[in-house]
Amino acid sequence: MNSSKKLFEKAKEIIPGGVNSPVRAFGSVEMDPIFIKKAKGSYIYDVEDNKYIDYISSWGPMIFGHGDEELNNVAIEALKYGISYGVPSAVEVEMAEIITDAYKGCEMVRMVNSGTEATMSAIRTARGYTKKDKIIKFEGCYHGHSDCLLVKSGSGTLTYNVTTSLGVPQDFVKNTIVCEFNNIKSVKDAIEQNKNEIACVIIEPVPGNMGVVIPDMDFMNDLRNITEENNILLIFDEVITGFRLSYGGAAKVFNIVPDMVCFGKIIGGGLPVGAYGGKKEIMSVVSPLGAVYQAGTLSGNPLAMSIGIAALKKLRNNPQIYDGLEKKAIKLEEGFNKNIEKTGINAKVVRYKSMLTIFFTEKSVNSYADVMNSDTKMYAKYFKGMLDSGILLPPSQFEVMFMNQALSDEDIDFTIESNLKVLSSI
Ligand SMILES: *Cc1c(COP(=O)(O)O)cnc(C)c1O
Repeated sequence: MNSSKKLFEKAKEIIPGGVNSPVRAFGSVEMDPIFIKKAKGSYIYDVEDNKYIDYISSWGPMIFGHGDEELNNVAIEALKYGISYGVPSAVEVEMAEIITDAYKGCEMVRMVNSGTEATMSAIRTARGYTKKDKIIKFEGCYHGHSDCLLVKSGSGTLTYNVTTSLGVPQDFVKNTIVCEFNNIKSVKDAIEQNKNEIACVIIEPVPGNMGVVIPDMDFMNDLRNITEENNILLIFDEVITGFRLSYGGAAKVFNIVPDMVCFGKIIGGGLPVGAYGGKKEIMSVVSPLGAVYQAGTLSGNPLAMSIGIAALKKLRNNPQIYDGLEKKAIKLEEGFNKNIEKTGINAKVVRYKSMLTIFFTEKSVNSYADVMNSDTKMYAKYFKGMLDSGILLPPSQFEVMFMNQALSDEDIDFTIESNLKVLSSI
């Protein structure tokens, strides 16, 4: 029989670190990873048939839970039509229609295969459109692993403390300016010091890659205003938040219209899909209409489009899903907070809609600096305790618990009980 241990030993020989994405190595929780055999509903099972309640939800895409019957049937049906053509198909038009209808300010959209591709291409487009080179990003925000964005980013890079990756020439990041999230003065200063040189500001409207940090609404509104005043494009990286916080993403919740937007995760229903879009005038610089080159052999893949479309339609037709997801997160938040009080442990629960992180810190968390104050050793102990209780949390302090629709009241009650037990024992 396969065991996680055996698989990991073998994997380490032939895959760097034994994994295809760094956070999966469980390094920051000081463990070896579990290897998954299957997942259904709110549960995920490892190769030794241990069952866990899943709060990773594939980092967001499995918003309905695993193995949703409706989506499964769409996938099976789509296979009958062939997997890939390399020439246009009707489902690509349908997907673009759904996204542009859903998202204010996204008048034209281009499909790609990952969030990384989406942000990389959006930035190229912003630079091509404005004919300016510099970009602003924020500490702790992660936008995929393209060269110019691997500066003080989140997710696996925070966990592994890589501010700038090896292999990224200094020249490639010299046009990337890093500002502080929730600190508008840092943005004003950067704009002042780089007058007429900044193409765009890219931001996770609700950061999820340093754990959840709640955006200050004044900061967000000011950011929209000063970018507009200075002819700088505002790009919302909604790879996590798009179709999770609301059907219209964070933009709808904030009532702010960005110039460009990036999607990923949920829009593929679990398949590798990304997209970037924006105002028609901006997107018109993209090839073959304009001179900004961007292409993809499998972009708009019909199988992926069919499943993604089914996922988005299901969200569109069942808007109550969002309240349901938030209720689950609120119940966890309240339960965890009671347990934290009871045990006197230094921890802060941060929740935004259906995204939640427990930070092991005594101070409230509003910035990257606050996040970095967390006790990652405590998180590691907590993670292990919860895993032993049958609950799979993100294997890093700097990630998010993602609610899915399949989580039952019993799952959540059990999670709160286990949380108390584990907090009492670490
Ligand atoms: C996951 C993520 C990305 C990168 O998406 P990939 O599909 O992993 O390349 C980009 N931006 C944000 C906000 C993300 O969470």
